Amino acid sequence: MGDLLRLVYASRINFEPSATGDQMDPVVADILRQSRRNNEPREIGGVLCCGDGYFFQCLEGERSVVENLYDRLLRDDRHRDVTLLSKRPVRQRMFQLWSMKFMNVDRRIRRMLEVDRLEAFEPHQFSDLMVDRLLEELRDASERRRPAPLGRQRSGTGARQAGATRELMPGLMFATAAGVTAIVIGLMLAGLV
Ligand code: FAD
Repeated sequence: MGDLLRLVYASRINFEPSATGDQMDPVVADILRQSRRNNEPREIGGVLCCGDGYFFQCLEGERSVVENLYDRLLRDDRHRDVTLLSKRPVRQRMFQLWSMKFMNVDRRIRRMLEVDRLEAFEPHQFSDLMVDRLLEELRDASERRRPAPLGRQRSGTGARQAGATRELMPGLMFATAAGVTAIVIGLMLAGLV
């Protein structure tokens, strides 16, 4: 893989939110399904955060692939006022397990906003420091929570290892049982049991 790029932008939603209670807005659910379908084969990962009528998204991946996606995003009429907050080469991904993690603005994020005396989630107003702090909060939250069952997730090392262990489990159990049986039969034949 070439240069790894992390790009962060803010935008305003361009649709009437219709989510009720804990349900995800159907437009946001469509965006996520599309993102996860497209991002996984392109090895793009990141996080999309939505609240108070705004999006905040971080995209990580190979430079040209991320830049290409950002060009498409600029033309998407489900949001407007797309503003670049940060774009820099990085050595490591922050969002290893997610082709696109999603988070609503929750209590932890509200507390962060209060510290910076912001009354609402308005990412266009965020300082560079605030952008970094929010990314860390979203990253930590993504480590606390496993991928949601909406579409497939890009499998990072941890997910791959967990999957491999799950796949090996039946074989390991069978091998252990067969080994124990062979030892017992051996002892019986030797007249020790
Ligand atoms: P699509 O309309 O997704 O489809 C392209 C091709 O895939 C077509 O040939 C179609 O027939 C086929 N296809 C459609 N549905 C399926 C299906 N269910 N199974 C198999 N094939 C199918 N886009 C991203 O890619 N990544 C992001 O992280 C991302 N984040 C976004 C965040 C926000 C806030 C918003 C508003 C949009 C985001 N988008 C994202 C959407 C982005 O703006 C473009 O709309 C999208 O990337 C276009 O994808 P596409 O060209 O593959 O077109």
